[in-house]
Amino acid sequence: MNIAIIGAGMAGLACADALLEAGHKISLFDKGRGPGGRMSTRRMATPLGEAAFDHGAQYFTARDPRFLELVKGWSKTGIVAPWPAAGSDAWVGLPGMNAVIRKMAEAHAVEWGYLISGMHRRGGSWWLLRSAGEIGPFDAVILAIPAEQAAAILSLHDFAMARTALTARSQPCWTSMFVFDRSIDDIEPVMRNRGDILWAARNSAKPGRSGPEAWIVQANPVWTAARIEAPEEHISEWLCGALASAVGRPLLKPIAAASHRWRYALSAGTGDGALWNDGIALGVCGDWLLGPRVECAWQSGRMLAERCAGVFRQTEQVTASRLERIHRR
Ligand SMILES: Cc1cc2nc3c(=O)[nH]c(=O)nc-3n(C[C@H](O)[C@H](O)[C@H](O)COP(=O)(O)OP(=O)(O)OC[C@H]3O[C@@H](n4cnc5c(N)ncnc54)[C@H](O)[C@@H]3O)c2cc1C
Repeated sequence: MNIAIIGAGMAGLACADALLEAGHKISLFDKGRGPGGRMSTRRMATPLGEAAFDHGAQYFTARDPRFLELVKGWSKTGIVAPWPAAGSDAWVGLPGMNAVIRKMAEAHAVEWGYLISGMHRRGGSWWLLRSAGEIGPFDAVILAIPAEQAAAILSLHDFAMARTALTARSQPCWTSMFVFDRSIDDIEPVMRNRGDILWAARNSAKPGRSGPEAWIVQANPVWTAARIEAPEEHISEWLCGALASAVGRPLLKPIAAASHRWRYALSAGTGDGALWNDGIALGVCGDWLLGPRVECAWQSGRMLAERCAGVFRQTEQVTASRLERIHRR
C-alpha cells in the first residue's frame, strides 16, 4: 500500500516505522521546518552564547515494555538519557528533546514545511491539498496531528471521527524561557504545580546540556487560557515573577527571555487509542486518543499501524485467493 501520513511527531513516526516494517510505502508530510512537533527544542542567541530549551515536552516515560525496549536502544546510542531529577522513570533526548524525533525521522524521507490543508478522494485514491497544489495518489491516509487540527480535515470525510476529535479538547500552555548570567543552583531544579506554574525546571541542568544558565517555566492551563492572546513579552515578565514567587525570593533579571504559546498542548485522551475507517482507508492517531504523554503518542501510532496493516493483509489474502480462483478457471 502507498500510504500518506500527515504529521511527523512521535505518533506519525511510530506509525510510519511499523507500516514500513510491514512492507508498505510511506510518505510523511509535516508543516514544521524540522523535526520536533511538541517535542521541539528551541535555540536562543544570548550574549553568553547559544541557549537551548525543550519548550514542549519536558521528559518522557517508557512504561510500555515495547517502548522501553526502543528507548533502551536509543540510550545505548546516546540519543536519550535518564533524568532522575524529574522522576525515576523520566527520560530526555540528548542534547535536546527533538533528538528522538530527528533520529526516528532519519528512517523516512519526511517532507518538512508541507502544511496539508485538506484532502479528497478521486478514483478510489486519496490526494492531499497544500497551497502549492495536490499530492498523490495514495491508497490510504493517516492523520497524526493534534485533535483540533485533525477535526477540521476529518469533518468532510468521516463525521464520527471528526466528532471524536472535537470532544478531545486540548489544554493550552504558555511556556517562557529565561537565560541568566549566573548559576541558580540553590533552588530545586524541578518544580510542579506552584501557584500559576504547572512546571518549572532548570533546563541547562538536564543531562547532556551545555550553554548558559537556562530555565523553563510552563503556566497552568487556567492561567494560560485567561491570557491566551496576551503579548509574548508580557507573558515572559509575568512568568518570571511567578518563578520568583514560587521560590519565595527575588531572582536575577534574565539576560534573555522568550515565550511560546502552545494552543493545543495537552489533551486528556479519548481512550480510543487509534481510529481507522476501512471503507475509505483513513486512519487517525495521536496522543489525544490515549493521554497527554509522548509514550501515549507512540502507543497510538503503533496501534493504528497494527490495525490497518492487519486489514491490508486480509485484503491482500482475499485478492490473492480471488486471482488464484480466476487462474484455476
Ligand atoms: C508544553 C508541553 C509540555 C509537555 N510536557 C510533556 C511531558 O513532560 N511529558 C510527556 O510525556 N509529554 C509532554 N507533552 C506532550 C507531548 O509533547 C505529546 O504528547 C507528544 O509529543 C504528542 O505527539 P504527537 O505525534 O501526537 O503530536 P505532535 O508532536 O504535535 O506532532 C504532530 C505533528 O503534526 C504536524 N502538523 C500539524 N498539523 C499539520 C498539518 N495540517 N499539515 C502538516 N503537518 C501538520 C506538526 O508540525 C507536528 O510535527 C507536553 C506537550 C506540551 C506542548
